[in-house]
Amino acid sequence: MIQINPKNSELKNIIILATGGTIAGTGEEGKTTNYTAGNIDIEVLVSSVRNLDKIANIYGEQIANVDSNDITMNHWLTLANRINELSKQDDVDGFVITHGTDTLEETAYFLDLTVKTDKPVVLTGAMRPSTATSADGPLNLYQSVALAASDLSRGHGAMVVFSDGIYSGRNVQKINTFKTNAFNSIEFGCLGYMRDNIPFFFNKSIKPHTIYSQFDVTGLTELPKVSIAYFHIDADPSIIDYFAQNSEGIVIAGAGSGTFSSNWLEEIRNLETKGIPVVRSSRIGNGIILTDSTIDKYSNCIPSYTLSPPKSRILLTLALTKTKDYSEIKRIFAEY
Ligand code: ASP
Repeated sequence: MIQINPKNSELKNIIILATGGTIAGTGEEGKTTNYTAGNIDIEVLVSSVRNLDKIANIYGEQIANVDSNDITMNHWLTLANRINELSKQDDVDGFVITHGTDTLEETAYFLDLTVKTDKPVVLTGAMRPSTATSADGPLNLYQSVALAASDLSRGHGAMVVFSDGIYSGRNVQKINTFKTNAFNSIEFGCLGYMRDNIPFFFNKSIKPHTIYSQFDVTGLTELPKVSIAYFHIDADPSIIDYFAQNSEGIVIAGAGSGTFSSNWLEEIRNLETKGIPVVRSSRIGNGIILTDSTIDKYSNCIPSYTLSPPKSRILLTLALTKTKDYSEIKRIFAEY
C-alpha cells in the first residue's frame, strides 16, 4: 500500500485498488484508438487527477494491471478479500477500484454481493486512454474518490461512477463500445448524479447486497465454474452437453424471455437428474424473465428475472458455493 498524498486529518482516507484497463492505458499522443490498456501504474494514474488531494487522503494498491478481458475469478477473490480485510480498520473510509470497462459491470456485481462492509465501494474506468485528447479517466476517478468519501454513499452496495452518473453494481451495464457516456442501468435508471465532487442520490436498489447478502467468499481460493451458452437460430445443442461436462452450472443467453429451441430443451432436461442447474437469462438485456410452465417444469430450469447472462453467471456461481438444491437456487434468483 502506498500513501499518495500527504495526510490531512480533516479528510477521509480512501484506498484505490488499481486493476488496469483503459484508464491506465497509453497510446499515440492524442489518439483514442489503438492503445494498450493497463500500462501505467497507480501513482502515475493518480498524479493525472487535479485536486484529488483536496477531497481525500489517497492510498493506493496495485492489484493487477491488465485489460479487463483478462480479469479472472482470482482477481475477484483478491479484491473482495482485500476490501473485507481493510474495511475492518477504523481509519479506512472507502474504496475505489479502477478497472477496464469491458467487464466492469461483472466485477461490480461480484463485489456488490461479496464485500462485507457498509463503507462505500466505487468502481470506475475510462473509455479513452490516459494519453488521449480529453481523456475521461481523470474526472471519473476524481468523482469516484469524492463519492467514496461522501457520507451519503453508505448502504448503496458497490457502485459504479461513470460520466457523471452513479449506478448500482447490480443494474449497471456497458451500453456503448466507444463513447464516453458508456454506462447506464437501462430501465432501472441511475442511483444519482455527480456534479463535480458532490453526489446527488435519487434512487436505491432494494436487492440484498454487501452486509445484507448471504454470500461470503472469505477463505475461498476458487469458485464453482459456470458457463454461458448463447442461443441463436440453428444454435448447436451439443454446446449444452459440452458445458455440462466441465461446469457445475449453465446460464443460457436465450432469445426473448429466456427461450431456446426444442433440441436445446432436450439437452437441458437431460441434465435434470445430473445436478446441473440451468438459469434462463436473455440476450435482450432488458425486461424480466419469469417462470415458464413449459420449460420450467424441469426442476433444473431457473428464470433469471432481470439479471443479464454475465450477472446471472455470477449469482449462480455464488449460489453454488452454498447449495446444489434447485429450489433453493430458484429462491436466490427470486430474491437477488
Ligand atoms: N479493453 C479495455 C478493458 O476493458 C476497455 C476499457 O477499459 O475501456 O480493459
